[in-house]
Amino acid sequence: SQAPVNVTVTGAAGQIGYALLFRIASGQLLGQDVPVKLRLLEIPQAVKAAEGTAMELEDGAFPLLAGTDIFDDPKQAFEGTNIALLVGARPRSKGMERGDLLEANGGIFKPQGEAINAGAADDVKVLVVGNPANTNALIARSHAPDVPADRFTAMTRLDHNRALAQLAKKLGVPVTELKKVAIWGNHSATQYPSVQHAEFGGKKIADAVDQAWLENDFIPTVAKRGAAIIEARGLSSAASAASAAIDHVYTWVNGTPAGDWTSAAVVSDGSYGVPEGLISSFPVTAKDGKYEIVQGLEIDDFSRARIDASVAELVEERDTVQKLGLI
Ligand code: NDP
Repeated sequence: SQAPVNVTVTGAAGQIGYALLFRIASGQLLGQDVPVKLRLLEIPQAVKAAEGTAMELEDGAFPLLAGTDIFDDPKQAFEGTNIALLVGARPRSKGMERGDLLEANGGIFKPQGEAINAGAADDVKVLVVGNPANTNALIARSHAPDVPADRFTAMTRLDHNRALAQLAKKLGVPVTELKKVAIWGNHSATQYPSVQHAEFGGKKIADAVDQAWLENDFIPTVAKRGAAIIEARGLSSAASAASAAIDHVYTWVNGTPAGDWTSAAVVSDGSYGVPEGLISSFPVTAKDGKYEIVQGLEIDDFSRARIDASVAELVEERDTVQKLGLI
């Protein structure tokens, strides 16, 4: 039988962690024939809560769960890790400036990048969920020079899934009929959910909905969905974020179906005018354990302006963390 795959989850005692760990333990992250070993990282104050979650994981008697270890030291947590899910981050508190937020997160993602560089398995794959996810991923990546750039990703799969759900509702079709929807740019309110190339049942979605609905309804609904959930639930989205993290890794490992793509924030190679090195969302395919940016798409003027605006925000975030000496 196969050796267990080591999966490190940071912020394991948080809301997303709570929803995520049980999905991983049940085999949904990698597949129903792949045993996993969990390595949970928490800050010292949250280790006790993580121990409680580990007890519940034990009580699940999951056939594929080969064990759970808990750490408060990133060096240990990332030792031998194959899949690193960076969920824990410093949330924005009242009155906090953007620079302060990026600086606080630099203090988290720099040592984690270093620890991944030093001790992770050769095939490590990293997904950053903790916000600001794209720039946190950039910070971690810049401290892991020995890890190939394409192993660092940030999550826009939840935005992608939210876009699918809104379109399926509008068109009255199941989500499985939708193809080639894409999220571009930053995982933030400036993101661009695009239907320029999207199809349903062989038809172009852009021909079936009007531009006013796209601009005034669809795009803002997807981009502001997180806030709408906080408003309704009194807590931020957690289970849907965990579900999207599962989807992101599952697709990365198992591939995208022919004739379709998904969305992920990956290191730019300069495609579509996105500055090289930025971690930006693109339409991507996955094959043989690699995400690749879909090439050669024609970009219309509306899309161009939206992509440029979101990428400009990523450039600003990068310049800020550069000035702070975090990358
Ligand atoms: P959550 O588990 O709800 O969220 C964790 C992170 O995911 C946040 O940065 C959050 O961003 C982000 N996120 C990304 N996408 C989404 C989405 N669609 N919906 C909601 N969140 C999203 O936070 P908790 O506060 O419950 O838990 C965080 C845990 O992390 C705590 O237990 C804390 O101790 C731990 N932590 C661990 C660290 C470490 O291991 N070194 C470092 C820092 C914290 P946003 O805030 O913008 O919603």
